[in-house]
Amino acid sequence: MIHKKTDAETHEVFNQPSPLEGYNAYTSDNTLQHYVNIFGGGWGKEILRDYGHLTGNELQQAGFDANRCKPEFQSHDRFGHRIDLVKYHPAYHQLMKAAIEARHHSLPWIDERAGAHVVRAGIEYLHTQADPGSGCPLTMTFASVPVISQEAEIAKTWLPRITANQYDPSNIPFYEKPGLTIGMAMTEKQGGSDVRANTTYAYPLDTPGPGKEYELVGHKWFCSAPMCDAFLVLANTDKGLTCFLLPRWKPDGSKNAMHIQRIKNKMGNVSNASSEVEYKGAFSWMIGEEGRGIGTILKMVALTRFDCMVGSSAIMRQATAQAIHHTGERQAFGRNLHEQPLMQNVLADLALESEAALAISMRLAYTLDMRDEYEKSLFRIGAAIGKYWICKRAAQLTYEAMESIGGVAVVEDNVLARLYRESPINAIWEGSGNIQCLDVSRVMRKQPTVIDVFILELEKAAGHIAQFDSTLNKLKDELMKDLEMEHLLRRLVEKMALLWQASTLIQYSEPTIADAFVSSRLSGDCGHMYGTLPITNFREIITRSKLKLEK
Ligand SMILES: Cc1cc2nc3c(=O)[nH]c(=O)nc-3n(C[C@H](O)[C@H](O)[C@H](O)COP(=O)(O)OP(=O)(O)OC[C@H]3O[C@@H](n4cnc5c(N)ncnc54)[C@H](O)[C@@H]3O)c2cc1C
Repeated sequence: MIHKKTDAETHEVFNQPSPLEGYNAYTSDNTLQHYVNIFGGGWGKEILRDYGHLTGNELQQAGFDANRCKPEFQSHDRFGHRIDLVKYHPAYHQLMKAAIEARHHSLPWIDERAGAHVVRAGIEYLHTQADPGSGCPLTMTFASVPVISQEAEIAKTWLPRITANQYDPSNIPFYEKPGLTIGMAMTEKQGGSDVRANTTYAYPLDTPGPGKEYELVGHKWFCSAPMCDAFLVLANTDKGLTCFLLPRWKPDGSKNAMHIQRIKNKMGNVSNASSEVEYKGAFSWMIGEEGRGIGTILKMVALTRFDCMVGSSAIMRQATAQAIHHTGERQAFGRNLHEQPLMQNVLADLALESEAALAISMRLAYTLDMRDEYEKSLFRIGAAIGKYWICKRAAQLTYEAMESIGGVAVVEDNVLARLYRESPINAIWEGSGNIQCLDVSRVMRKQPTVIDVFILELEKAAGHIAQFDSTLNKLKDELMKDLEMEHLLRRLVEKMALLWQASTLIQYSEPTIADAFVSSRLSGDCGHMYGTLPITNFREIITRSKLKLEK
């Protein structure tokens, strides 16, 4: 006889997977550990284990909180004094503090061991899975160091505090703080990619030249993390675009004339405030050679582009982990989703994409640790190729992961909704897709040795998979011809990216992974959607990617 339910018991909840929370995001991730070890970061396992615990536990919750409450801007205090204050949810500060204590922003600058960039990339990879937004000031602070190092006197005051493992969010002058964060402001209304269109102007206060004091008049259309203690800014002098360090408070303790106009109401990257600012005679120091500002700030941009690769790889990792976890505990039509071939194909495809992104990101972190001419050349071209490819692939992957989870993934309580809105950001800032392709073309024309290095890197994987060898030979034949045709640059960079991912997987991953990647990405025998792999050994690929959660 059917038991009649009372009003209070409408139904029993079943077939709902457990949430993926309360785990160690490092020790559960064998793929991440593999690439950290292979590229010389094995000594950082305790650092990563500890940070993996935080990012899989309290920082995961902090990520939700910091994104639920948007940063608020307060231009004046209640008595009418200009304060230019951005108020964040306490969880944002919690994320910043934890990351800075783990040295997300500084590890390779204070630890000379080979592998420090790889370990730091691991920290970024873990942090991004909890909250990509706070990664913005962290990466800018990290990447500012090679630029500020160019001015010895300024570096003496600033660098020890920039690299310190202390987070101090208070709105007070830089010389009173034990730890400092740094932002970057290049983009103006009339042009972001084309910074030569900048109209902000810098006037010397006394003797002109590098390290000297200037006053800036103008605006910036995007200035993220405006509570940073100083910003690397591009402004014109009579000699052209030049780089300046603009502190939020002046050295005499008064407020600098950098006025925040408003905070942008963004669709993603919500925990991080992005502002519009005006410089009304803002105090700053010239950094690097006058008129060579683009070259100077590019030292920073090269690193933030690299961080975009790592960050988007992390977004893909979190989305893939969520999809595999959820489907593993969900039944449909009487069978677990992991048993259903069509879903297996999707999950294996996501896992492949996620590993391929991590593989080239870590390979590039290794180039930063090595710094010989070969590795420098590989970084020069690899950062542009990787930034273009990985950041674009992230948006498609997060959507597909969301669909694997189904309707609940669209609900804001699920991290997928946030990852999806975050996923296009890395592709747009720090040089959008076309700009990366033009950069690949520019570097290949200006430094042809970079082409030799890139081909050598691909050739290291030759002789194992026939499809890879033939695609590589085709690229070698067509490379210079394709380079001439600007309208085909995306096609060229895509081929280079896929071959580089394939080569890295052939060298450093399992044959199953490399074979599946080559057969799907290089053969032309695969559809446009995820879940169209022309293979059947899905289970092995999914098992490799599945987080190994402690019972
Ligand atoms: C969340 C967020 C935070 C940001 N924070 C900062 C910050 O802190 N500091 C900062 O300086 N900037 C910041 N930016 C700005 C960002 O760097 C710019 O938006 C970006 O560089 C693109 O510039 P733009 O918006 O002016 O677009 P445009 O330069 O107008 O470009 C529009 C499109 O045209 C393409 N394009 C441009 N030139 C060419 C060409 N020659 N051939 C083919 N296509 C081309 C671009 O690839 C792009 O797709 C931020 C942006 C976002 C979204």
